[in-house]
Amino acid sequence: SGKFFVGGNWKCNGTKDSISKLVSDLNSATLESDVDVVVSPPFVYLDQVKNSLTERIEIAAQNCWTGKGGAFTGEISVEQLKDLGCKWVVLGHSERRHIIGENDEFIGKKAAYALSQNLGVIACIGELLEEREAGKTFDVCFRQMKAFADAVPSWDNLVVAYEPVWAIGTGKVATPEQAQEVHVAVRDWLSKNVSAEVASKTRIIYGGSVNGGNCAELAKKEDIDGFLVGGASLKGAEFVTIINSVT
Ligand code: 13P
Repeated sequence: SGKFFVGGNWKCNGTKDSISKLVSDLNSATLESDVDVVVSPPFVYLDQVKNSLTERIEIAAQNCWTGKGGAFTGEISVEQLKDLGCKWVVLGHSERRHIIGENDEFIGKKAAYALSQNLGVIACIGELLEEREAGKTFDVCFRQMKAFADAVPSWDNLVVAYEPVWAIGTGKVATPEQAQEVHVAVRDWLSKNVSAEVASKTRIIYGGSVNGGNCAELAKKEDIDGFLVGGASLKGAEFVTIINSVT
């Protein structure tokens, strides 16, 4: 449902030089037209990337503050991200939830404010290994979805990224069946708790050890509407393979 969407989350990686190389690889690539493509550089390189990257690819920030700027040392406001030309922000990433300690309510506030200012949100959800093993995958994903649903003013500009934490950076990709099962459940949750229309039009993308070798099988699944890619998005040619895996 919706146009295929592929995001590259560069996380806390890169230098001016390595990013300049990656941008030039992306600029010279041939990308399938039927895909929305977004990259998410660290804050300090957003301006460099915006000024050098082809307009074909949009820019996402990796985080934002919950409201307008002001006396919030170390934070970055939505207005500042838009000033730099960002169209998106990644929120609720597992590294922010589990390493930095952000909770559902805080993430929901950020999503609500970003959407209210017309910044698109890539809303991440996903269970820990111990939660999967305890049979709590759906409970966790639905709880995280509810926190977004309770907060956001609209779903028009929101993409859901299902990223099982056990698959992130581990090389243990979810099988296409495992990912499809959760995507269907999340879509069903949206249908019951938001609306059938939102359920059918919201893109649900998969993240966690996606690479050039496994993307094609995952992309075939009906409810996998794209990918959020970490490590493999730092390699231009491999990221392009993933973008062009659209079926
Ligand atoms: P990896 O692709 O490196 O597993 O990271 C996935 C991710 O966290 C994207 O946001």
